[in-house]
Amino acid sequence: MSNLDNFRQETRAWLEENCPASMCEPAAEDDIVGGGKKATYKNPDAKLWLDRMAAKGWTAPTWPKAYGGGGLTKAENLILQDEMFRINARTPITGMGFSMIGPTLLDYGTEEQKLEHLPKIVSGEIRWCQGYSEPGAGSDLASLQTKCEDKGDYFLVNGQKIWTSGAQYADWIFTLVRTEPQAPKHEGISFVLIDMDQPGVTVKPIRLISGNSPFCETFFDDARVEKHNLVGQLNRGWTVGKRLLQHERSSISGLGSAGRRGRYDAMGTLPDIAREYIGLESGKLADLSLRDSVTRNTMNLRAFNLTQRRAMEENESGGTPTFATSMFKYFGSENGKERLEIQLKIMGTQGLGWEGDSFSQAEHTLTRTWLRSKSSSIAGGSSEIQLNIIAKRVLGLPD
Ligand SMILES: Cc1cc2nc3c(=O)[nH]c(=O)nc-3n(C[C@H](O)[C@H](O)[C@H](O)COP(=O)(O)OP(=O)(O)OC[C@H]3O[C@@H](n4cnc5c(N)ncnc54)[C@H](O)[C@@H]3O)c2cc1C
Repeated sequence: MSNLDNFRQETRAWLEENCPASMCEPAAEDDIVGGGKKATYKNPDAKLWLDRMAAKGWTAPTWPKAYGGGGLTKAENLILQDEMFRINARTPITGMGFSMIGPTLLDYGTEEQKLEHLPKIVSGEIRWCQGYSEPGAGSDLASLQTKCEDKGDYFLVNGQKIWTSGAQYADWIFTLVRTEPQAPKHEGISFVLIDMDQPGVTVKPIRLISGNSPFCETFFDDARVEKHNLVGQLNRGWTVGKRLLQHERSSISGLGSAGRRGRYDAMGTLPDIAREYIGLESGKLADLSLRDSVTRNTMNLRAFNLTQRRAMEENESGGTPTFATSMFKYFGSENGKERLEIQLKIMGTQGLGWEGDSFSQAEHTLTRTWLRSKSSSIAGGSSEIQLNIIAKRVLGLPD
């Protein structure tokens, strides 16, 4: 038996022994674990599952063992993903620590920064959020104005960030700040890590149409940043910040899950849902137009998942953090939005449940997922911006 076959056998046995049964059920929105000092666990199994996976380093399977990760090779990680998928095991913890700042510190952090921050992400002790967007800087991110002054042995930060997802639950924030106001706009930016547990940092949640407050305004009033929390060189933060965006887009596109799971599949595939809610005639959907939409979207999703898988297999680091990541981000979010629109057409009014016993838990979740999906082509850079990047950086078209 090859080493990989052995690894598969051991992984399967370990997962079967250690993954609690309730962690193989789909997670409701408030069951998703983000970790951090303020975390609460509705289901104690979620904490148990997190602790067991973290102890093996499998919350960050490919990160080096020296930083708490699993040290798995690309091939071993694919096996782990496959085996988790086989038993429907939940991802034990998600968040910007894993998808954004962790990989960026692996690329650009000092040894001291890696040793300080990565193990706390792996264990779920510290939760991170992203301080990029400002009221006057979204797509044109380099226009950001949050001021960061050198005070000798520390920096002082003043300004405002907006749309800071999960800031009310986070312990630390990674930010792009302006350190050289006179320089051309891309050249006076630095990337700093800020401890949010200080009087200089205030967060105000923003309430949305869905009833949730997934993101906040974040204010810095004389927030203090120790010098060792500068990542990369002073005034060269744009390079670090762009790299992080590639990791973010790679994660939004589902590249880390090796194309094994669609993002909206808790109720099954579109054909499954059509079978359940409408029924088939002679094995087919009677409505030709709906059948066409279901078939196209399902085939596109399948092709997309296979392309994700291929991209992951071809790339040593397990994703495709290059400009080409924008293609995955663009296609994944547009296909996902379309899928949910079709799902709603299939389910009719049953797809619009908000509360009450006439709707199942999965239907309640679906309505919220559909509303939230509208933001997927904006978050992490809008679809138009991804198309601009693909045109310029992938296809080499002129400005
Ligand atoms: C769910 C969600 C979570 C988010 N979480 C975070 C977070 O945690 N941290 C954070 O920092 N930010 C976060 N954001 C903010 C996000 O990064 C911005 O919303 C996004 O970059 C767009 O910026 P904007 O909202 O200012 O829109 P604008 O930049 O004002 O864009 C408005 C419209 O103009 C279009 N547009 C702008 N410039 C161009 C151009 N050059 N060519 C073509 N079209 C253009 C855009 O595509 C868009 O349709 C989040 C956003 C969402 C929706």
